[in-house]
Amino acid sequence: MNPWKLKYDYFNPDAEILRESLCTLGNGYVGVRGAVPETAATKVHYPGTYIAGVYNALATPIAGRDIINEDFVNCPNWLMFNYRIDNGPWFDRLKIKILSWKMELNMHKGILSRRIRWQDRYGRITRVENQRVVSMAHPHVCAIRFSIIPENYDGKITVRTGIDGLVINAGVERYRQLNSKHLQPVAHGEFGEDGLFLTMKTNQSHIEITEAQRTLVHEGDQRIHPKMHILLHGRERIMHEFVLDAQQKQKYSVEKLVSIYSSRDHGVADHCALAQDTVSRLENFLMVYAPHQAKWKALWKVFDIQVEGDDFVQQALRLHAFHLLQSASTYNEDIDAGLPARGLHGEAYRGHIFWDEMYSFAFYNLHAPEITRALLMYRYRRLGAAKDNAIQHGYQGAMYPWQSASTGEETTQQVHLNPMSGTWGPDYSSLQRHVSIAVAYNIWTYYYSSGDRDFLERYGMEMLLEISKFWSSATHYNKKRRCYEIHGVMGPDEFHEKYPGANKGGLKNNAYTNVMVAWFLDKTLELLKTLGDEERQAILFKTQIDEQELSRWSDMTKQMFVPMDDDGLLHQFEGYMDLQELDWEGYRKKYDNIHRMDRILKAEGLSPDSFKVAKQADTLMLFFALNDQELEKILKQLGYPFNQKIMRRNYDYYIQRTSHGSTLSRIVHGYIAHRLGYKDQAMEFFQQALESDIYDIQGGTTQEGIHVGVMAGTINLLLRRYAGLAIREDRICLNPDLPEKWDCLKFKIRYKNIWFSIILTHKEASLRARPLRDISLQTGAAIPIEIKKRTQHLKPGKVKIVHL
Ligand code: BGC
Repeated sequence: MNPWKLKYDYFNPDAEILRESLCTLGNGYVGVRGAVPETAATKVHYPGTYIAGVYNALATPIAGRDIINEDFVNCPNWLMFNYRIDNGPWFDRLKIKILSWKMELNMHKGILSRRIRWQDRYGRITRVENQRVVSMAHPHVCAIRFSIIPENYDGKITVRTGIDGLVINAGVERYRQLNSKHLQPVAHGEFGEDGLFLTMKTNQSHIEITEAQRTLVHEGDQRIHPKMHILLHGRERIMHEFVLDAQQKQKYSVEKLVSIYSSRDHGVADHCALAQDTVSRLENFLMVYAPHQAKWKALWKVFDIQVEGDDFVQQALRLHAFHLLQSASTYNEDIDAGLPARGLHGEAYRGHIFWDEMYSFAFYNLHAPEITRALLMYRYRRLGAAKDNAIQHGYQGAMYPWQSASTGEETTQQVHLNPMSGTWGPDYSSLQRHVSIAVAYNIWTYYYSSGDRDFLERYGMEMLLEISKFWSSATHYNKKRRCYEIHGVMGPDEFHEKYPGANKGGLKNNAYTNVMVAWFLDKTLELLKTLGDEERQAILFKTQIDEQELSRWSDMTKQMFVPMDDDGLLHQFEGYMDLQELDWEGYRKKYDNIHRMDRILKAEGLSPDSFKVAKQADTLMLFFALNDQELEKILKQLGYPFNQKIMRRNYDYYIQRTSHGSTLSRIVHGYIAHRLGYKDQAMEFFQQALESDIYDIQGGTTQEGIHVGVMAGTINLLLRRYAGLAIREDRICLNPDLPEKWDCLKFKIRYKNIWFSIILTHKEASLRARPLRDISLQTGAAIPIEIKKRTQHLKPGKVKIVHL
């Protein structure tokens, strides 16, 4: 196995769509599924091009009302390419004999290649190869190079290449009943000797998208200029057609160079002209490929995590880092887009942004914090929408929506289709108000590891204060119990939406929510103290928060109710212990896969609300999000105990009642299992999390888009547990615990503008620190780092070996 490559050596109609997802290429601005260029969407192939931040909302009448869905728009398919021999049929995989079919994703170079050898009914054999890139060096540029070699015949090969705007959003089976035609034509035409462009517009959000292409043809090494004819299909599909007088064994290459812009792009007066200009300046495929590859090389220099001793772990980690870098990049600084839970890779969850950022941001924080900052700015720009959202629900401050897309308004659907029963039911998931906790948590962790004071003072503090204000308004004081309580919310475990039989959604005192609110209020108050008097006054004035409100927050950090037994067992929410136990064994025997117990129970006419069954970590999230010191501090402040025994008690209890219906669950359980010393179980979860997309362990979800949260989660879990990385106020700490099978772990991380290069073996740690700006290199000030609880001092730029 080559851990830099993903290879498929044969055609498998059941797996092509999954492979196309895994072979998506992107650069943060645009994502292009790894679909074959010779076909439009079918059951086996699904081409998709998604531009970060390009959404469109459509209404569909369902169950007597209009349901609005804001989709991640499938933009025109620029891959379109086909050919035929001597006026025979156009290449169609179903009508020919495939002699060989190979696909290879080279993650090191960011290139996707395909090789197909096929034979027609006259015995003519053709070899077709193509290589594509979505440029990491220029976010608006993509390219494909096709080579066609007639192996045993001479003939006329007619080629078509173009841009298809007749696409709809059809990538997710469950959404097929919904309206899905988002694009309408605006303009199209030819330019130069070999150029074509198509401009389409989304029909609700009115975003114009231009894709422009040039087609360069070579016979062997010689550029040739076949006459290009234009072909149109209405105003939505535009193509060039030309004929090659093909000689046996000669290689004909067709380079398709493409540029994509939209009316959302900053500083662009005429996106249509710019797309044409951009592509006109490109001389050939190599001119796109060379800087692209150089950029990937530079990215891998800092993002690659090397695991020696386990090729699968190595390959999966690279795949994860590769897709994370394609889902959000430094280009996000310029494009005002969030991080979709399913990447720029497909239409699942409609490209929406969830709390999953909480699992993903550590990856960017530790390597390119400017990406996190850009993603947090997406939230900051939608602070107004979050404030409106709070008001609409009778609260104050900022309540971020469970699902966010273009405007920051709530985009969670109101009804949900159960694919098992085929029925639509109410969707209460927007009661997962904990998404606002995730935003606050992400601001804090970003600031803590990057030290970006500028962001904190200009944007972060304001968001923290508004979120605190929201939680304060969603909390009430229970005089009888003499503590604060939060009602009417759902925790991360989405199976429990309401109390059994209740006609209103929401639960009381979700343990995760209550503790986390107290925790981040504490952090907000702590950070507020670090501001100068004038800044403090200014921000309090702006957010209209007075001293009385601040003192209420302070009380909440000491008197928040936490449902906990005398023996330390936290109740997922108040009333959880009254629910019925599920017959886990019975259901395991009855169904092959019980991950989605909610759908099974609902299809059986029951409700998961009645059972002790969780989709994913809920209470246990506390032990994942907060370290021992933080958790102990906040629980102690609230009057509750915390120790390892309590963590174990909770883990042992909830692990038996969780179906892992979300890939995120394995990250949390793996992390805590390792913290508790259940190392085999931790490794099993880690392994499953690594397998979740590459092998599509949920059986059909990855084809609709990768799972960004679990991908980043595996890297986070590895760094935090196997390298034992902990971030502290003034240093990083390492407490390595390499699995036996691994010989060595190498990585780089960035902490507060210092790059650390770390190599860990079972015996020693090799460490080097290099400040980003060479200030301490000049002053020579030593950089502290803690290894196995002992502080070491690193001389900038010098390697230090520490025996473990
Ligand atoms: C999970 C959520 C997650 C969402 C998007 C759901 O299946 O339960 O926690 O936010 O997927 O990834």
